[in-house]
Amino acid sequence: EAKKKGRNNFQVYSDKLHAGASEQLALLSALNFAMERQEFSLAFQPQVAMKDRRILGVEALLRWHSTELGEVSPGQFIPLAERSGLIGEIDKWVFREAARQARIWQDEGLHEVVISVNLSASRFDEPDLVENLQAIAEEERIAPGTIELELTEAVALQNPEQALITISALREAGFRVALDDFGTGYSSISYLKRFGFDKLKIDKSFIDDLTIENATDVAIVRGIIALAKSLKMATVAEGVETEEQWRSLQELGCDEVQGYIFSRPLRPDQLAELLSHS
Ligand code: C2E
Ligand code: MG
Ligand code: MG
Ligand code: MG
Repeated sequence: EAKKKGRNNFQVYSDKLHAGASEQLALLSALNFAMERQEFSLAFQPQVAMKDRRILGVEALLRWHSTELGEVSPGQFIPLAERSGLIGEIDKWVFREAARQARIWQDEGLHEVVISVNLSASRFDEPDLVENLQAIAEEERIAPGTIELELTEAVALQNPEQALITISALREAGFRVALDDFGTGYSSISYLKRFGFDKLKIDKSFIDDLTIENATDVAIVRGIIALAKSLKMATVAEGVETEEQWRSLQELGCDEVQGYIFSRPLRPDQLAELLSHS
């Protein structure tokens, strides 16, 4: 009986494993063609000042509409792109496209905003990264100061000495640098100080349960904001959805909010419409 059960369990497990693997394979083969088939686009999500709800920046978020698989979320394909080495080309495309879009909005005379672009760990090892980004910004006639690069703690800590050099070079070139998903990794406070980020993005997981009754998360977020302030970094709360979260963050002195409460990620034309009223 035990043997039978064991075998059945194995059967189920191996089927799942098999389905998972072939699914990944299908995803990967479709991802290989995504660029040349022009299946990528960008969505832009506003970051607003808490004090007056003005839009200060927008984060460029990659969207993939696969002809074969339909809409695939970044949560599914970015990790795969990272493992397969496709992420370098993808992030390059994202940066160019974001700069191109920024140029269009500036030409339209829209209220100027900072454009944030995510940078993956593998991209960070690229030897001429800063020069390459500078060249693209120049070609698209975008001041580096209006571009912000978002890095995660994993990027910064994978190779701290190299990260330190690259982050300094990025900032010397005039780009802004933000630490994304703060609190989910293992940055030590001394690293935070040495890296000199302009902005710290508080991960959504700390925002989700941010209610007056939840003393623990309130204390954590208060601590993060105090730390950021003492290191002269601006704070952005990610994934803010409710009025209650907004009020708590306001009381805690958070600078900016990015979340569905203000806006979901928008198509470029939708964002332009929003900017034209602000
Ligand atoms: P992220 O950089 O932390 O981006 C924020 C994510 O939170 C986005 O998910 C955004 O749509 C989502 N979000 C914002 N506000 C809310 C909210 O109020 N509620 C909820 N439930 N979600 C909210 P998205 O677009 O699915 O992207 C997921 C992740 O994929 C990003 O997390 C980022 O790590 C990665 N990613 C997206 N685009 C790129 C890219 O161009 N390059 C790289 N390397 N990674 C990217
Ligand atoms: Mg980000
Ligand atoms: Mg984030
Ligand atoms: Mg994230």
